[in-house]
Amino acid sequence: MIIPRIKIAHLPTPVEWLPNITGLLNGPNILIKRDDLTGIGFGGNKIRKLECLLADAQANGAQMLITTGALQSNHCRQTAAVAAKYGLKCRLVLAGEEPQQPSGNYLLDLLMGAEVIWTSRAKRDATLKSTFDQAWEEGERPFMIPYGGSNPVGAMGYVVAMQELAAQQVNPDWIVFPSSSGGTQAGMALGARLTGFKGKILGISIEDKAADLQSKVADLANQMAERLMVNEVFSSENILVNDDYLGAGYGMFGELEKNAIKFFAQKAALFLDPVYTGRAAGALMDLINKKFLKRGETVLFWHTGGLPAIFAESYQPELM
Ligand SMILES: *Cc1c(COP(=O)(O)O)cnc(C)c1O
Repeated sequence: MIIPRIKIAHLPTPVEWLPNITGLLNGPNILIKRDDLTGIGFGGNKIRKLECLLADAQANGAQMLITTGALQSNHCRQTAAVAAKYGLKCRLVLAGEEPQQPSGNYLLDLLMGAEVIWTSRAKRDATLKSTFDQAWEEGERPFMIPYGGSNPVGAMGYVVAMQELAAQQVNPDWIVFPSSSGGTQAGMALGARLTGFKGKILGISIEDKAADLQSKVADLANQMAERLMVNEVFSSENILVNDDYLGAGYGMFGELEKNAIKFFAQKAALFLDPVYTGRAAGALMDLINKKFLKRGETVLFWHTGGLPAIFAESYQPELM
């Protein structure tokens, strides 16, 4: 099975045991997979997707990457990084209001030379389309990457990631991680089947109700299986999602995230982000507290990155 990709990320990312956190939570053995260390442009999970997306873009003769996300989008920052390194232009359609003072991911977008088009959350996908059409009219060779890089091409990066985990001979009972646009989980789900992974893959939903995210992930995994011409079929029941930790909504920082960020910083010198990994680690801690995740099991927390958001002006007052 050949998955076309350009080797961009620093792989394999390390798997580390967290003795202090394991001991203090007094539950399962806790490992962490460091996809915050995928390397370029401050790293994160989107770099794995972009390895596959860049191969597609290059095969199509693209000279500009266009994608979309929130003001503090990690995906947009990683797309800007890949574009910068591989000599492509980059246009980002950001949903939100232009801040007076650039910070966090958005500051990095600007430093890496991305052009920014502003839109609202409701008009996001329409603006993405019109930005793409306009680039063609300007004589550019644009390549459109959907929200989160989550299409059947991008999500292949996480099939590769599951092959990598198998090669590292890490066999946890659970993988726990933040799940949002679904590409990471879809790639893991298909990768698990193809590598014979025996553990459970639990996505902590960041934004959607579980049923919506499960069907989104299953659809994407089915499209990927078709692309790879492998005989694997997914339905919602095959996709594990917990939506108990949505809090006040996407990007809304609360006590759950704050406690998790401080705990991991103080007990493991690891930094989590306010939107994704902070929420998922807060969920992990609560699920251990409730004995849903138990002593005697091994849990791999998959760190998906997002660190620059810690330095976003909007989160700074809330972090302390
Ligand atoms: C995008 C992102 C996720 C979610 O990944 P999806 O593939 O969109 O589900 C998780 N964590 C971080 C830090 C992200 O940037």
